[in-house]
This record gives sequence, C-alpha cells and structure tokens, in this order.
Amino acid sequence: NQQCCEKDLDTEERTFVAIKPDGVQRKLIGEIVARFEKKGLKLVGCKLIQPSRKLAEKHYAEHKGKPFYEGLLDFITSGPVFAMVWEGKEVVSTSRSLIGLTDPKKSPMNTIRGDFGIDVGRNTIHGSDSVESAQREIKLWFSKNELITSSITIEKWINED
Ligand code: UDP
Repeated sequence: NQQCCEKDLDTEERTFVAIKPDGVQRKLIGEIVARFEKKGLKLVGCKLIQPSRKLAEKHYAEHKGKPFYEGLLDFITSGPVFAMVWEGKEVVSTSRSLIGLTDPKKSPMNTIRGDFGIDVGRNTIHGSDSVESAQREIKLWFSKNELITSSITIEKWINED
C-alpha cells in the first residue's frame, strides 16, 4: 500500500468526549479528566469551544425531529464545551462505561453521570457511542493538526501487549 493515510498513523482506537456546558460551568473539568487519565486512557487533543448552531446540528443530526432536539441544541450551544479526543484499547466502550447511562437518575454511582447529574437534559458529558460515530465526531470537532501523534510511554504499564 503506497498511500499514507490517517489510519496508518493512528492504529489505536479513538473517541470523542465533550464536557457539556453544565459540566464546564459547575467546574467539573478537572474531576472528569482525572477519571479518564486514571483509567489509563491517553488524551490526544482538547479545547474549550462554544459550538455554533451549525456544529451542534451536525453533531446531533441523528436526533433531528425528536421532541428534545431543539432544547438540546439550545443547551449545547449555550456556553463553552470542553471537547476532547481520547485514545486507548477499546476506548469507545471504556469511555461509555466511565460516563454511564443517558439518564443520570438511572446511571449507577461511580459513573460520571450517576455521580454528577439528575436530569437527562443536563447529563454533564457526551461520549461517542460507536467507533463509526467517534470517527465522524472527531472530524467534526477537530482538525488533524489539533491532535497529537507522538507516543507517551505509559502504554506498557497499561496494556499487556
Ligand atoms: N436527551 C434529552 N432528552 C432525552 C434523550 C436525550 O435531553 O429524552 C439528550 C441528552 O443530553 C443526551 C443527548 O440528548 O445525552 C443525546 O441522546 P442519546 O440518546 O444519543 O444519549 P447519549 O449517547 O448521550 O447517552
């Protein structure tokens, strides 16, 4: 294969995670980032960004027409969001486990939503729900030069192979 493509550079799985405006305003960035770091995941990009309506519409396109859609767009565009890309083995499902269920009331304790939220419309954090969604969302929120490719040598302390 003569072509050098993005995939060759990042063989590890990546996911898109965003602390929503409620989490940012409530000063939960540090606490949440700490949980991802302690799990052994690797941060490869992050920024504080107030998303435009257009970005929010693209991000939540699958929910267009649902009763909560307009409110969700109003909310996600209402203030800064802390957008991140995390990397690691099975990082998409691992991140969803750290995050918990969509409804914070039903989300177990020791999950981010279970610990910090009550309302489904104020559930603190977003995490991609599949590898395909992750690839789409990372492209939507980040340009390539905002993501690092250099290696951090903790991998051998986390992964057996
Ligand atoms: N949401 C909402 N009301 C609902 C369902 C969802 O406000 O009845 C919001 C909530 O913030 C959720 C987001 O829409 O995180 C996307 O919903 P999805 O079902 O994709 O849940 P997630 O993947 O975020 O757990």
